[in-house]
Amino acid sequence: MKQITDNVYVETGFRGANCSFVTTAEGIVMIESPQMPEEAVKWRDEIAKHGIVKYLINTEPHGDHFSGNCFFDGTVVGHEGTRQAILASNAEQFKERMKQMSPASLPFMDDFIFCAPTITLSERLTLCLGEHTFRLIHLPGHSPYQVAVYVPEEKVVFTSDNIVRAQPFLHQALPYEWLESLKKYQELDADFLVPGHGDVCDKSYIPEMSAAIQNWINAVEDAKKQGLTLEQAQSNTALLEKHGIKVGVDQRSQMSLRNSLAHLWEVVGR
Ligand SMILES: [Zn+2]
Repeated sequence: MKQITDNVYVETGFRGANCSFVTTAEGIVMIESPQMPEEAVKWRDEIAKHGIVKYLINTEPHGDHFSGNCFFDGTVVGHEGTRQAILASNAEQFKERMKQMSPASLPFMDDFIFCAPTITLSERLTLCLGEHTFRLIHLPGHSPYQVAVYVPEEKVVFTSDNIVRAQPFLHQALPYEWLESLKKYQELDADFLVPGHGDVCDKSYIPEMSAAIQNWINAVEDAKKQGLTLEQAQSNTALLEKHGIKVGVDQRSQMSLRNSLAHLWEVVGR
């Protein structure tokens, strides 16, 4: 865990999304919860040294950001689309997956449930706690329901997976809105960006992120111009690499590339 400002703590080493918390005069606000119950319990113990959790904000509708919610006190806050995704999540299936992914988590899963936000937003919401303000801003991109959490007193933005220091996933993306949303992060008066995954950065990283999204748009436009089918594009590593998209060899990144392409095929160039 790293302390990046007077009141902001970030853990980038969990399996899954980055998890953070902000200490205020009236208690703690968490951003995301660890996906692996084993890590959620450790995080809970760490946070307890700093105070009581009042709010837990989920920035997006993907399990690596919200699965650990039930291990924490505090009111869960998120986009209404994220609430729907969490309500649709199946605890029994998750327990089955943990048998493979994280056997060390099983002892902590007797009472496991998915906890959905009880306070939701569609566009904007401001939480005030102690001297701190948490401005939640709907910024579609990586999914239609992404939320940025801006804390002006700390000059920190928690970006969700709209900004990642890794291969982005586009299987639910709105690529053109994503590019527009990235301009909005640029406008915030912030010294630190806490990305969804990877090391903390600052606004100088945003052009690189925009380029990564543009690369995907370009690759799909190029494939269509060449008359390729989706299946042909999915197995055409050279096409992706020509557009600066790195193709990992492991099964998970291969799968993610195929899913990203299949989704973009529907939304780009029509
Ligand atoms: Zn995500």
